[in-house]
Amino acid sequence: MRLRRETQGKHADHLIEFKELPQKGVGVIAKANIPRGTRVISEQALLEVDLETVTLKNIVSASERLLPSQQESYLQLHGYDSDLLKVAVKYDIGKSWQELPELHRKVLSIYAANAFGCVFFLGSHINHSCIPNATLAYNESLKEEAFDVIRDIMAGEELTVMYIDGINRTQSQRQAELDKWGFQCTCPACEDTAQGRQRDKKRAELFILDQKLAKAHFHTEGSCRRGLQIVQRMAAIQKSEGLVNRQLRISYYDAARYCLELKEHRMALLWAEKVEVDLYCVGEDYPEYKKVLLIVEEMRNAVHGSKPLSESSLEWFMRG
Ligand SMILES: [Zn+2]
Repeated sequence: MRLRRETQGKHADHLIEFKELPQKGVGVIAKANIPRGTRVISEQALLEVDLETVTLKNIVSASERLLPSQQESYLQLHGYDSDLLKVAVKYDIGKSWQELPELHRKVLSIYAANAFGCVFFLGSHINHSCIPNATLAYNESLKEEAFDVIRDIMAGEELTVMYIDGINRTQSQRQAELDKWGFQCTCPACEDTAQGRQRDKKRAELFILDQKLAKAHFHTEGSCRRGLQIVQRMAAIQKSEGLVNRQLRISYYDAARYCLELKEHRMALLWAEKVEVDLYCVGEDYPEYKKVLLIVEEMRNAVHGSKPLSESSLEWFMRG
């Protein structure tokens, strides 16, 4: 498949290529070894919808506002018309799937199979894995969606991102979500092998820990200690399972926060320094990352006694 070049996105041509893969459609393959932290794609949304008021009607209207060349690019993407989408059409537009014009059916099924809120043309070609080696985030300073590699990738390896919030979920929980995208995941975390099942046990543990954390209120010293134990365990599993996307950053951040609440500033600093995992996930030009660096620097000074941690930094941690 040949990709049109007149989209606004940029990709690292010398590092990645778009290639037809058996049973997967087009995927993105590393042409060379890519070190973690490398940005491989940066692009504006091809199809942009107001996420506050996203409806199927708005998606169709947004597609009608595309320039002819953009519409052509959009219609190249793979679509999936799930039963859920058909029910949503009935509810939202008041017509059966068959009553919709063919172009609208195509627009909606492409949206359903590719949208991360908005649809990104280049990024849409990156396939899913439950152990992704790349991640995406909207970069406010670039005003673009950036796709960054989160661990070292070898030449020939496929680049993957996670389509769902599934780090702390089991295989069956993740697959239930992925059904909406119209495929059965066969990544190493989902394969029906001894190793796959072993990985799933770890995910089951993460799920239980995540639930404990969500239900708990940590106000007393004892409860903060329990919270700290939970997030430490979560971070350890995530790290050992190669789950190094922004979910790991959340675990580190939570651990730093509990240590601050327990007034263990040295430990808080150690965890906060690990929040720098964001460097590989979002890059140093990401505005929130710059803030993290400043706060970590401030914590270093506080621990070494030169200056206490400012109220605004403390607030940043406590805000969660
Ligand atoms: Zn999977």
